[in-house]
Amino acid sequence: VTVMQRLTIHVLTLFPDIIDHYAKYGIVRRSVERELVQIHTVNIRDFTEDRHRTVDDTPYGGGAGMIMRADVLARSLESVSKSNDAGKVILLTPQGRTLTQTLANELSISGTFTLICGRYRGIDERFCERYVDDELSIGDYVLSGGEPAAMVVIDAVTRLVPGVMNDFESGLDDSFQNDLLDCPWYTRPVEFEGMTVPDVLMGGDHKKIECWRHEQSILRTKQRRPDMMKKYSTDK
Ligand code: SAM
Repeated sequence: VTVMQRLTIHVLTLFPDIIDHYAKYGIVRRSVERELVQIHTVNIRDFTEDRHRTVDDTPYGGGAGMIMRADVLARSLESVSKSNDAGKVILLTPQGRTLTQTLANELSISGTFTLICGRYRGIDERFCERYVDDELSIGDYVLSGGEPAAMVVIDAVTRLVPGVMNDFESGLDDSFQNDLLDCPWYTRPVEFEGMTVPDVLMGGDHKKIECWRHEQSILRTKQRRPDMMKKYSTDK
């Protein structure tokens, strides 16, 4: 009997609609429908205590931009941990370690985690010190908010949850999944603007096809990502 692993992702954000909307499409939607993944958004603004529902304030010491308040963030996180397990609390920040396929794999079997989306200049450091277990970045560039990063994490992680992808679309040969880039792929029509499909793919010899695809993966990785190739050669 296979026990399906469920994953719960809590997302603290000022714009829950962005995340909820994204969860209505494709593989993320299917994972939710199959009850393999639960995506629970929390609107940080619901945890303000003033008439204006203020979530940010000017920085001590001066400077441009606004800072998200630690107390409001703490209350919104407590709303999760009070009724559920919040799991690992992950702040999305350009200063975190970069998301990789290995990290996505780890998160996909972690059971529960909580993503925190920042906005403005950033968030009060004391909140990070007290509540944040890990910091993740999606790359060396600065977004105006953590929501696109949360969608990237949710997408990359959700598709890896056991049972989410069908066998035929199994991501085992996806780029990075086996330390190589994926091979090139072709579909109908057989001729496109004077270009044809490699003969081997039309021949029906599945062993040969498998060999060709593996060779192509290695070739591509060598050409496009020599850094990955070095690691691949050492590991193998
Ligand atoms: N002042 C911050 C810094 O330089 O580290 C950047 C703040 S950014 C304008 C606002 C929010 O967007 C951040 O709090 C974070 O949640 C999110 N963000 C921006 N770039 C990101 C990235 N590369 N990866 C993940 N989250 C990011």
